[in-house]
Amino acid sequence: MTGAITLSLDFELGWGVVGNGMWRRREAAGVYRDLRPSLKRFVALLDDLEIPCIWAVVGAMIEAPPDRDLGHLRGSFANRTRAFLATAEQATHDGRDLLDTVLTSRTPHVFGTHGYSHVLFDDADQDEIVLGQDISKATRANEKAGLDHRFFVFPENRAAHFHLFSGSGVEVARMHALNEAAPGQRGNLASRFCASIMRPVSPVTEIPSNDGPILHHASELVNWGENAGRLKRTMTKRRLKLALNRAQRGDHVHFWLHPFDLVATPGLEDYVQNWVKDIAKGRDRGSWSIDAREAARAA
Ligand SMILES: [Zn+2]
Repeated sequence: MTGAITLSLDFELGWGVVGNGMWRRREAAGVYRDLRPSLKRFVALLDDLEIPCIWAVVGAMIEAPPDRDLGHLRGSFANRTRAFLATAEQATHDGRDLLDTVLTSRTPHVFGTHGYSHVLFDDADQDEIVLGQDISKATRANEKAGLDHRFFVFPENRAAHFHLFSGSGVEVARMHALNEAAPGQRGNLASRFCASIMRPVSPVTEIPSNDGPILHHASELVNWGENAGRLKRTMTKRRLKLALNRAQRGDHVHFWLHPFDLVATPGLEDYVQNWVKDIAKGRDRGSWSIDAREAARAA
């Protein structure tokens, strides 16, 4: 059996860290500004290598700022979102130019959604009405931009309230790996670090949910983190190599990253450029296929 590789990107700019305010530091460091040329290089390389990816977009990031509607949010996340939009630079919250970069590439990329506002599905301040509205606003934003929305990525992989997706058009939701604790139920930093090193690579496992999307358990993060020391960097590279070995043995492995990680994490862009070249070489020699549409359940 030939293995398969899926590569998905959580396409979110500063929206992904509105809750913890980390966008301020990244913005000050020029991450979102430098992302523009970096994404162009990455997309051009994907074109050269003919590697399609799934881009899970935050709905509010791809809408024109005057069209955004965040009135459904409650509690501290609503306040933080307001402060984000009032003070962040346009490059930190407006990703329409980035979407254009992906849309104008030659590769048949697949799109999905990462929610409208990146609100966490286990945020106690939100109720099911809020979360249901976030889903419908997200699917509408994708529709308006002509993008598919059958693939969903839970913000921070905090998966909950599956039944809210019924009738939304979302068919597949990416989840944490089956052999790791669900986000929000993990220990402190040290124990999470050990767990991430010790956990064997987990190939894709799909489980139907009762009245919601297919739960696509898969989570190999292509990033060693902005502040990683040499050990974590080495272990992450080893892990990514082991994951490719699993694909070579016939498994389906799903990797994901954030485009801004390529700028924020020292050394990652160079590493990823070589790593995707290895993925293309493996495909060309018949070790695995690269099929974004398989995971996105496109028709
Ligand atoms: Zn995210």
